[in-house]
Amino acid sequence: MSGGEQLGFDGMPQRLYACTPSRLNTWLDCPRRYRMTYLDRPMPPKGPPWAHNSVGASVHNALAGWWRLPVADRTPEAAGGLLARGWLTDGFRDEAQSARWRERAREMTERYAAGLDPADEPVGVERTVAARTDRIAVSGRIDRLDARGSELVVVDYKTGRYVQTADDARGSLALAIYAVAASRVLRRPCHRVELHHLPSGEVAAWEHTDESLERHIRRAERIAAEASAADDAYRARVPAPRRGEARTRVAAAPGRDAAPPVDHAPFDDRFPARPGRLCSWCDFARHCPEGREAAPRKDPWAALADET
Ligand code: SF4
Repeated sequence: MSGGEQLGFDGMPQRLYACTPSRLNTWLDCPRRYRMTYLDRPMPPKGPPWAHNSVGASVHNALAGWWRLPVADRTPEAAGGLLARGWLTDGFRDEAQSARWRERAREMTERYAAGLDPADEPVGVERTVAARTDRIAVSGRIDRLDARGSELVVVDYKTGRYVQTADDARGSLALAIYAVAASRVLRRPCHRVELHHLPSGEVAAWEHTDESLERHIRRAERIAAEASAADDAYRARVPAPRRGEARTRVAAAPGRDAAPPVDHAPFDDRFPARPGRLCSWCDFARHCPEGREAAPRKDPWAALADET
């Protein structure tokens, strides 16, 4: 039996659905976006990058780098230095806006690092964990995994405007999956999940029980079952491209704007559009008339506080 197969109830091999929390959430948000993200190859060209993603990635990278420094070097200033040196500039309106946000992000990162104990070594930083059930093989990367007492704690950094609550921590499928996967990989219990909102310094935490984690996993399996059935229907209609074909087609496109329109009609029964206000932030809105109608695309820097 291959690593990706389990025996089903009827004794026949049953393929595991390999996924990340992000893939499952994309299916829930909008099946059409899921199709364009995970199935259409070549992938339809995305819209321009978002400045808030640059802020988030820069801060995450700086904090990950900070934990890799020798303990004596883990000062708040070092965190700020890492942030400034690794600053990502995609998506900002201009250099001045990028520089302003680099300083904001530097302050935010230094403030956060000042509240950390440099000697309190995490069990994992940007640690990839994975777990299997009878139906899914799920994996993901945890920003930070702490050891507190005999238990592990999942820490997720947040850098956007929205300040998370305990309800967000409780309801997060991703955090619950990380907790289960971390516990299995490291063979230590893990029930607590935390969202660390760097701009405000707030921590939204939730203490799961075995039962609540189990409920999240069962939910992940239900979402996976839907997405997996849709994947199979897609593959039945669209044979896998011959090796190299996708690359050739991407290279042949004369430019991003010249990409041919995406024909959704053959897939709309299994991958319907789910237009709503999130369409403003969808990377594939340019290929989606319903989404553009529902919510105009925002400027790439529109999610930055005080910039709209
Ligand atoms: S624009 Fe909206 S409806 Fe269209 S694919 Fe994106 S999220 Fe879905």
